[in-house]
Amino acid sequence: MNIDEANRCLLCKNARCQAACPINTDIPKIISLYKEGKREEAQKELFENNPFSSVCSLVCDWDTQCKGNCIKGIKGDPVEFYKIEQELSLEYLKNLKLEKPESNGKRIAIVGGGPAGMTVALILGQRGYQITLFDENPRVGGVLRYGIPDFRLDKAIVDRYEEILKDLGVIIRPNTLIGTVITLDQLLNDGYDAIFIGTGVGRPKELDIKGETLGHVHYAIDFLRSPETYDFKEKVVVIGAGNVAMDAARTLKRQGKDVTVYYRKTFENMSANKSEIEEALEEGVKFEVFKAPVEFVDEGVIFSDTENYTDENGRIQTRIVENSEKLVKCDGVIIAVSQTTKKNLVSSSDIEINKWGLLVTDSKGETSMNNVFGSGDVVSGARTVVETIANAKRIALNMDLFCKGGSKLEKARLLIEEIDKEMVELFEKRFKAVKDVIDFKKENNMDITDSSREEFLINKNLGYLKDKALEKYYVEFLKNMFVVSKKYQSDIK
Ligand SMILES: Cc1cc2nc3c(=O)[nH]c(=O)nc-3n(C[C@H](O)[C@H](O)[C@H](O)COP(=O)(O)OP(=O)(O)OC[C@H]3O[C@@H](n4cnc5c(N)ncnc54)[C@H](O)[C@@H]3O)c2cc1C
Ligand code: SF4
Repeated sequence: MNIDEANRCLLCKNARCQAACPINTDIPKIISLYKEGKREEAQKELFENNPFSSVCSLVCDWDTQCKGNCIKGIKGDPVEFYKIEQELSLEYLKNLKLEKPESNGKRIAIVGGGPAGMTVALILGQRGYQITLFDENPRVGGVLRYGIPDFRLDKAIVDRYEEILKDLGVIIRPNTLIGTVITLDQLLNDGYDAIFIGTGVGRPKELDIKGETLGHVHYAIDFLRSPETYDFKEKVVVIGAGNVAMDAARTLKRQGKDVTVYYRKTFENMSANKSEIEEALEEGVKFEVFKAPVEFVDEGVIFSDTENYTDENGRIQTRIVENSEKLVKCDGVIIAVSQTTKKNLVSSSDIEINKWGLLVTDSKGETSMNNVFGSGDVVSGARTVVETIANAKRIALNMDLFCKGGSKLEKARLLIEEIDKEMVELFEKRFKAVKDVIDFKKENNMDITDSSREEFLINKNLGYLKDKALEKYYVEFLKNMFVVSKKYQSDIK
């Protein structure tokens, strides 16, 4: 129990922790419910906002998000909300059972069963879509299963998600790489109403230096898929300083290896979470900074020193120091300098990709191919689990609107319903009330040019087809009357 931690929370009105959370978790509300003993309510609230709250509570970068922004951290110890989230969401996940709903007759294909694909499957599965999820791997989970090591994320959690998806009626086609034998066009021809692409960034970025094909040189994301299959003698060099590099280094340390991380800049520039670097240091991983690899040789890696300098625009840049090459002897090398997309899926169709090989979508997740949507790392580039879930949630919602079709009015209504059910009721009451006023004024020959903007809008549009009038009104109303976020306003334009 984390009641002491909860009691330290000030339940701020404008909570900084919530504002810094990429999925906007209502932290004060969850903590209040937790303190009042309303566990189930708190758990449901967490899950509905973020179906992967259990995973996020374990792998998010709290230091830059909720914990790092807690008001109490300014003068003392910040509230560690993630501990409360862990307690609530792991318990909820253990007991969660989502029943298969009645079918709505529509079929969705999901390509990629990482957090993005699984989020879309969970949301649309609960809305009655018949979903087939394709993944090139034997099991779903994406990086959650084949990247993040067990010591940070227990795979039993990923197994639970797989069970929940199956209970919901999601059909999983494992070991199926889309883009080779099966193409996107074939999926559309087979009657899927929409396709979601969440294929992530599964291709390691190469360093493009001599010797990269030698037998002792490997890429971190390949290594992390099955670390037990690698057999390094003793000394291993890891190149890079992001989270993937830390995961590789810490996994190697658990295998009893002598591990050193080499990085071309300094500690402050490392992109790994601060807590990951600290834990790597505590576990005995060594670090060498201001070193850049220039060649791989049989005995190890040749590194050059690097140094910072200020360029003509006043920016700090890093460059190699001439004639500073030195051989670092080692038995194995792991390269962890970022990832990009695999080519097979996109090269099999006319879908647009950008110069970095990422899938191009608009704000609603629509790609250049009709009925094909995408989000997650394949669109954003390598990011985080929580950002992936937040985006996938939004795109799933839009796919729902897209598949249900209907007029702009219907879409606007569905969108409003999602934003806030009470708002719809309020709007409908308000609309009726204003229309009654207009009707009353007309019946009594009163001047309706002298009316409020709201009356003016409704009256102006009542002359159109009924639906058209309502549609215009809804859109105008959203744009002018409600304080709806800009994001949603642009979605219904
Ligand atoms: C080692 C590592 C550690 C990380 N640690 C953290 C962390 O601690 N915290 C954090 O927030 N984020 C972390 N991340 C980032 C996070 O995991 C990703 O942002 C997230 O997984 C992206 O989700 P996704 O669904 O877009 O892609 P992925 O998780 O990559 O899933 C993509 C899925 O698509 C499948 N696929 C790909 N191509 C095809 C195809 N053509 N046909 C069929 N299936 C296909 C793949 O098999 C995979 O299952 C880490 C990433 C890595 C690599
Ligand atoms: S900022 Fe800190 S004190 Fe305020 S609600 Fe968030 S966790 Fe509680």
